[in-house]
Amino acid sequence: MKLESYWLDTAPIASFGDDAAVQGRVDVAVIGGGFTGLSAALALARRGASVALLDAGRIGGGASGRNGGQVNTGVAQDFGALIGQLGLERARRCYLAYASAVDTVERLIHEESIDCDYLASGKLKLASKPHHYEHLAKTADLIYREVDQNIELIDGVRIGEEVQSDRFYGGLLQRHGGQMHMGKFAVGLAQAARRHGATLYEHAPVSAIVKQSGGGYRVASARGELTATNVLIATGPSKHGPFSWYRRRIAPIGSFIIVTEPLGADVVARLFPNRRAYTTTRLMHNYFRLTADDRLVFGGRARFTASEQPSDEKSGRILQRNLVELFPELARTRIDYCWGGLVDMTADRLPRAGQHDGLYFSMGYSGHGTQMSTHMGQVMADVIGGRDDANPWRDFAWPAIPGHTGKPWFLPIVGTYYRIKDVFY
Ligand SMILES: Cc1cc2nc3c(=O)[nH]c(=O)nc-3n(C[C@H](O)[C@H](O)[C@H](O)COP(=O)(O)OP(=O)(O)OC[C@H]3O[C@@H](n4cnc5c(N)ncnc54)[C@H](O)[C@@H]3O)c2cc1C
Repeated sequence: MKLESYWLDTAPIASFGDDAAVQGRVDVAVIGGGFTGLSAALALARRGASVALLDAGRIGGGASGRNGGQVNTGVAQDFGALIGQLGLERARRCYLAYASAVDTVERLIHEESIDCDYLASGKLKLASKPHHYEHLAKTADLIYREVDQNIELIDGVRIGEEVQSDRFYGGLLQRHGGQMHMGKFAVGLAQAARRHGATLYEHAPVSAIVKQSGGGYRVASARGELTATNVLIATGPSKHGPFSWYRRRIAPIGSFIIVTEPLGADVVARLFPNRRAYTTTRLMHNYFRLTADDRLVFGGRARFTASEQPSDEKSGRILQRNLVELFPELARTRIDYCWGGLVDMTADRLPRAGQHDGLYFSMGYSGHGTQMSTHMGQVMADVIGGRDDANPWRDFAWPAIPGHTGKPWFLPIVGTYYRIKDVFY
């Protein structure tokens, strides 16, 4: 078993990093080479701005290359609860922002001819308990009436046509959305950004951003420094660099994934005939999907801990038990990959984007961000260009998480709480 991301391990080998020292002057410095940063660099370069992107490690090596591979529409949280929290109009705006984000991913794949196995097969949320299904039915009514007619409620009898497991009591299918190979998409975006003139630097962790008296910023990195008129911070739940203001607003929560050996066409046709992106309704939920070569990518929170290799393996064993509970016939299936990554969780699980202290930022996608990060890269290029109204998150306040100093000491407590709650939920 490889303790690394399947997406990164099987991405095309490409060289898009610039070998020269970081130096010079640019219109925009983008810090972070995940989907947010790459998409922003692409959009800015396309409109003629000079752009330098700096990543602390490998481009696409953060959450963008380590996720579950799903590109889903709709909000991550219950739509009814979101209406209760924000009111109908704002909740609808959030839902529609995710629909636009899926469109953005599909548009960029098409415009830049990115070969990333994109499959528009929708997302199926699976009810893990009978009363979860009743709740899903109410949510489906609300979504259908208020915001999205491209959905279908599937009852406990028909669910077997979608997924062969006796653990599910029905499901909610949201058809707009898909899945893709995240490593191929990251490489495709990086190559497109370069083609349009952006300069990309790998292994260039940024250690300081200093406002210049004459305007603009000096950005210092391990590979040199440059000056930039504007800076976009696209660092996700970064542990390094001068981002403590952001760290106090984000809980970096580990999420873990295993990938099986190829299952074979017969098993796939029987267990997952429609190749959806699947999630379950438990609080400690699982998410899964197939790869183009018929492996099962199976993820979940498993444990509330950071992602590190020994910890990833332990989480992987928990995930394998979850997998076999849902699909007993996969008990002997080999696990080929196991890894973890950090989710940039905000208190309300909604992203934040805008400007703080003169610096632009977009992050906090809370585990629902492959589409939104790509979309927000494009949006932030508009915002930097003066179109603040393009930002769907412009009027969301962002107070620090109470008691959070930047190190997530509270995660084990939250994990225990969720595990207990899951039993009764
Ligand atoms: C295990 C897991 C599963 C997930 N599954 C899904 C899913 O199925 N569907 C979904 O929609 N979302 C999912 N997500 C979330 C999604 O992957 C992220 O929301 C999205 O990729 C965030 O992109 P980003 O560009 O903002 O951040 P990242 O991809 O994390 O990129 C941030 C980059 O910033 C760099 N950086 C940090 N500090 C510095 C510094 N000081 N200097 C320079 N560079 C720096 C990092 O090296 C990194 O490359 C998942 C996340 C995880 C971890």
